[in-house]
Amino acid sequence: MSIKILLDKCTGCTLCVKACPFAAISMIDRPAEAPGKGKRVAQINLDVCTLCGACVASCKFNAIDLKKDLGGVDVDLSHYKDVWVFAEQREGKIQSVAYELLSEGQKLAAECGSQLCAVLLGDEKIEEEIDHLFKYGAQKVYLITHPELKHYHTAPYTRALAEAVTKHKPEIILLGATTLGRDLAARLAIRVGAGLTADCTALGIDPDKKNLLQTRPAFGGNIMATIQTLRHRPQMATVRPKVFKKSPVAKPAAGNVVKFTPVIDEKDLVVKLLEIIQDESVKVNLAEAEIIVSGGRGIGDPKNFHMLEELAQTLGGAVGASRATVDAGWISAHHQVGQTGKTVSPKIYIACGISGKIQHLVGMQSSDTIIAINKDPDAPIFKVATYGIVGDVLEIVPLLTKKLKELKG
Ligand SMILES: Cc1cc2nc3c(=O)[nH]c(=O)nc-3n(C[C@H](O)[C@H](O)[C@H](O)COP(=O)(O)OP(=O)(O)OC[C@H]3O[C@@H](n4cnc5c(N)ncnc54)[C@H](O)[C@@H]3O)c2cc1C
Repeated sequence: MSIKILLDKCTGCTLCVKACPFAAISMIDRPAEAPGKGKRVAQINLDVCTLCGACVASCKFNAIDLKKDLGGVDVDLSHYKDVWVFAEQREGKIQSVAYELLSEGQKLAAECGSQLCAVLLGDEKIEEEIDHLFKYGAQKVYLITHPELKHYHTAPYTRALAEAVTKHKPEIILLGATTLGRDLAARLAIRVGAGLTADCTALGIDPDKKNLLQTRPAFGGNIMATIQTLRHRPQMATVRPKVFKKSPVAKPAAGNVVKFTPVIDEKDLVVKLLEIIQDESVKVNLAEAEIIVSGGRGIGDPKNFHMLEELAQTLGGAVGASRATVDAGWISAHHQVGQTGKTVSPKIYIACGISGKIQHLVGMQSSDTIIAINKDPDAPIFKVATYGIVGDVLEIVPLLTKKLKELKG
């Protein structure tokens, strides 16, 4: 995929500058050696351009050449090998989702007969973290360091990773479906001409063709679709935190580290990171909670979330919610569990007055123990529950809290 300005045809009219939704086009003086009329010509900043084609449609002079390889040309699949996991780090610490993906990646690599590799980007201090990646199954670590990679920002991360991918040709790349991973995956996929399936809930390998099977909810969560990338490589997928469990390996591989310094010129970076400010309003960390008490429309009233908070506090847990309660404005969206909320996998998930629609279940069904309280004995939540209590949540929760407080003494 590529885009370029045909200087002999560009008249410097600036229509494309106005049409670009991403401010990726600016005007420069026509290079002395370039043929054509007009003193100025358009220039495209490839770090910002998304190849959307809006400029091509706006140009009256056919002066923009956009080549999108959307299926015409097959790549030689045999050139691609190994499973890569993007080892997301924040403030120098590798995030749990990377270990979860490595744990799942071991099975995929074994089925493909290839190596499991982690790719870690950061400044030179990030090297201290490498051993953790071997503990979770990486057989090789690509270490990409540069001062501009200390904190995530889109352009240098995309550029560095695209350089490594083009050079080493992995067949599969897995990233966490975090805010950062989603941003990077989409950019990288476009840059390297790869297929990308976002928010997968299961991964596997097709036994015959060895393609990655990428399963995710489709059509509003009413069906689960399994997607394959048949003709392009790498195959890229994002997976939310807590979809897979992390498990350290018994015998970590010895440190096979490939070091790589990308070409990043500060002058090319249109976005500068000036300061990082923590969002103080996000107090609930559902993804890391070991016990979650979640409320649905069955609690009847927003004030009844206090009752759930009390139970959660007694257990040392956090409060979750169904989307129905979030949509009704009973509780903030930070608490939402499910397809359009957070995916959680605590040791204990207590669903209070939640019906158990599929969109909720995909966000919590991998919890170790699920306790459901619902007055309807046929509520679908009971199909995934380890223990079910049929009854009025407004009576049962206060009783539970009282009993637990007594037990705690
Ligand atoms: C594209 C899409 C994405 C979605 N994403 C999400 C998501 O991320 N998360 C999510 O949760 N939903 C999501 N939904 C919505 C989902 O389909 C359901 O509508 C929602 O989960 C229902 O919430 P609920 O169980 O609280 O309410 P309801 O379905 O109304 O269920 C209430 C339950 O409470 C029980 N009940 C009532 N009174 C009592 C009582 N006194 N004691 C005990 N039980 C009682 C009832 O029997 C019932 O089972 C999504 C929907 C779509 C289309």
